[in-house]
Amino acid sequence: MESILDLNKEQLITYLQSIRQPAYRWKQIWHGLYVEMYDSWLQFTNLPLELRGYLQEHFTISNLSLADHIHSSDGSTEKVLFSLPDGNPIETVLMEYEERISICVSSQSGCSIGCKFCATGKLGLLHNISCGEMLAQVLHFARASNQEKHPITNIVIMGMGEPLLNYAEVKKAIEILNDHDGLNIGSRHITLSTIGIPEQILQFAYDFPQLNLAVSLHAANDQQRDKLIPINKKYNIAMLLEAVKQYIALTNRRVTFEYVLIADQNDAVSDALQLGSILHGLLCHVNLIPLNPTAHFNGNPPPLERIEKFQQVLNDHHIPATIRFSKGTQIQAGCGQLAGKSH
Ligand code: SF4
Repeated sequence: MESILDLNKEQLITYLQSIRQPAYRWKQIWHGLYVEMYDSWLQFTNLPLELRGYLQEHFTISNLSLADHIHSSDGSTEKVLFSLPDGNPIETVLMEYEERISICVSSQSGCSIGCKFCATGKLGLLHNISCGEMLAQVLHFARASNQEKHPITNIVIMGMGEPLLNYAEVKKAIEILNDHDGLNIGSRHITLSTIGIPEQILQFAYDFPQLNLAVSLHAANDQQRDKLIPINKKYNIAMLLEAVKQYIALTNRRVTFEYVLIADQNDAVSDALQLGSILHGLLCHVNLIPLNPTAHFNGNPPPLERIEKFQQVLNDHHIPATIRFSKGTQIQAGCGQLAGKSH
């Protein structure tokens, strides 16, 4: 059955017109879904009983089934495994920081990109997630957070999948997340993370000039990046950086580059020097992420002093760089660890 969350505002209005409902009806439903965050048609007591029954026969609210969930021992991270209607898995992670609460949303079940260090990539692409399935991930956590009076502040589209390869649905979901009559998550609080699909980066710039863009670079030259990220053979670093330059010119927004540091593979001072050189002059920030271990990749994070040296070289090149230890690595919820499995 179709999820009501798959309808954007215009589609909902059109649908309600088609079943001869008054013009104000969409507002009641929209408010119930995204402000009250009802998860059952029975809660829509503001609707006539007959309409409630009709909607219940034609739409579910969420199409996701909760399959498993796990908390980190410090309670700051929760990972949820959902099952899609076709049985494929997706994972969503809630991360609590002192000043914000972020949800890391999946945009695909599995992923076709196949980055060597990533557990999701090992699955291949299983399913493109619909707009409603992305919103259902957010609402699952937002309901609990609102009850505890700690509303969700940030969304990062950084979970399973490559969002720019499912862009139409991702775009629709972002528009609903951002909607002032609903969840009202501010543009500056939404980040899309991509491995780098040049033409889609430009489309994203046109569609969402106020959102944050993170680009997973992970290497400073094509020889290394080809080995880690197979799609680099199609879209090499020069093509990617050209798209990023155009993105910055269009939006005047700072881009974040993600760089997973892998001992003896991309963590040498010479790599940092090369990275400093290719990023020179770009309005950017680099997040240095020590590799999170996964079962299928033979690699280790570098020792801390080597990571700090790498950071120092970038800073010497006037490239701001931050060392980021992923939250939730202990529960396999860190970057590259989402494998769609129960615990
Ligand atoms: S790192 Fe991202 S793009 Fe690469 S395989 Fe994993 S989910 Fe896909």
